[in-house]
Amino acid sequence: MEDGILRAISADGTIRAVIATTTNLVGDARRKHALSFTATAALGRALTGGALLASLASKAGQITLKFQGNGPLGKLMVDASPKGTVRGFVENPQVELPLNSLGNFDVGGAIGRTGYLHVTVDPGYGIPYTSTVELATGEVGEDLNRYLVNSEQTGSVVIVGSHLTAKGVEAAGGLIVQLLPDHCEETICRIENNVSTFGSFTFLMRRGMSLEAMLERILNGFDVRALTEVMPLRFSCKCSNERFVEALKVLPKKELVSMAQEDGQAEGRCHFCNAVYLVGKDCLLNLAQGS
Ligand SMILES: [Zn+2]
Repeated sequence: MEDGILRAISADGTIRAVIATTTNLVGDARRKHALSFTATAALGRALTGGALLASLASKAGQITLKFQGNGPLGKLMVDASPKGTVRGFVENPQVELPLNSLGNFDVGGAIGRTGYLHVTVDPGYGIPYTSTVELATGEVGEDLNRYLVNSEQTGSVVIVGSHLTAKGVEAAGGLIVQLLPDHCEETICRIENNVSTFGSFTFLMRRGMSLEAMLERILNGFDVRALTEVMPLRFSCKCSNERFVEALKVLPKKELVSMAQEDGQAEGRCHFCNAVYLVGKDCLLNLAQGS
């Protein structure tokens, strides 16, 4: 099944929701970065969260999540656009931790339970703005929820998860439900009840449940209107050989010449997608002449 995202609102305008499946893009991230299981679970949740937030927060720009915790994974970053492209990386992709006491991948231990989540929203015009919250648990979902409650001053539910086996990423996805200003106490109770009976997101996915059906399930009892068609999601990076060459142009002439003569080439690796770019000797010397 292709990855997709769907946005909806309740007919009475008191709740909005966004829901996504991200199995393929999390699998892509795992292959590109040779991620451990723990790193796949952590980055997978953050990639899903980024896609969900981008869909909620920005119509034209993009959103960047930066988890800076005290755990062994180091920095974790995700970029997502409302057009359905997501990319991300962790500083130490090989880190593997024992399962936690619940038998799950120890994402909180890997990211760290102390530290910060920085969320930058670039609306596509004007100046991007960054909000920072302390990590709640390092488990990603709770941290994103804290950010939403903090920045929007309204209650929300964030579910992000993945199902990993020796075969790879078998299911990944998640949802955000956000209360809008005119909600009443009864709305909160109903949502809380729906969350407690929802079950595991990836279990429902593996049972073949569609995005629409899962949305109905989390918003059971509400008249739900889809705001969008299901839009495809994918792991996609903006890097290119041209961009790498552009980046080299800022280096001093002396350095370009020494790279050309000593290494015969310049090598660059994109943090976000791990693609390697090589620029040959002649091109380096040309750049040196141009600078
Ligand atoms: Zn890249």
